[in-house]
Amino acid sequence: MSYNIAIDGPAGAGKSTIAKRLAKKLSFIYVDTGAMYRAMAYYFLNHDISIENESAVSSACGGIRIELAYENGAQKVLLNGADVSGEIRREEVGRAASVVSAYPSVRQKLLNLQREIAKENDVIMDGRDIGTCILPDTQLKIYLTASVHTRAMRRYNELIEKGQTCDLAEIEKDIEERDYRDMHREIAPLTVAEDAVTVDSSELDIDEVVDAIYRLMS
Ligand code: C5P
Repeated sequence: MSYNIAIDGPAGAGKSTIAKRLAKKLSFIYVDTGAMYRAMAYYFLNHDISIENESAVSSACGGIRIELAYENGAQKVLLNGADVSGEIRREEVGRAASVVSAYPSVRQKLLNLQREIAKENDVIMDGRDIGTCILPDTQLKIYLTASVHTRAMRRYNELIEKGQTCDLAEIEKDIEERDYRDMHREIAPLTVAEDAVTVDSSELDIDEVVDAIYRLMS
């Protein structure tokens, strides 16, 4: 049987950084489910399908094929065969992903794929509903969070490092809106699973969080 670790939490809590490090340490596969939602959102944006129009989005779902591939341990997301791993990181794609991920047709499309990967591999899967919905019986569930300000600062620094201009107040507002949408949607909202361990990374560095989760495995 595979060993699966679920890491859920709000945008910018550090899930992907932590999950990647831990996956390397454990030789597990890292599965970034947010990237799958982003790839779907990217398809709608690119095909001029209004993301506010649920029925148009749902009808278009049939034309989308999402696959994950791994190169030197790094996850690549393929959208209908094309590698879109870079394009989907843009802020507007994240925002659009948060809108369309509220639609049952979009979630349904990714649910089986995510479960299949976890069944066949030892994985660290990060997202919003992994412990509550995708892998409810998994061995270890973490809810990784941090204050809105800390998360906004981290994203701000990331963007500045990439040479992009950005506004901290705007990022903070965006994070708050994204949290609200993710936590208040009808289907698979972001919430702490009953048996999850909550880790607040506001005052911890990456190694401290990785170690804390690693210790919880034994
Ligand atoms: O984690 P990331 O910011 O890449 O996710 C983008 C959006 O995808 C989130 O804001 C959330 O709305 C959605 N998502 C989700 N369920 C997941 C992972 C991501 O609804 N398991």
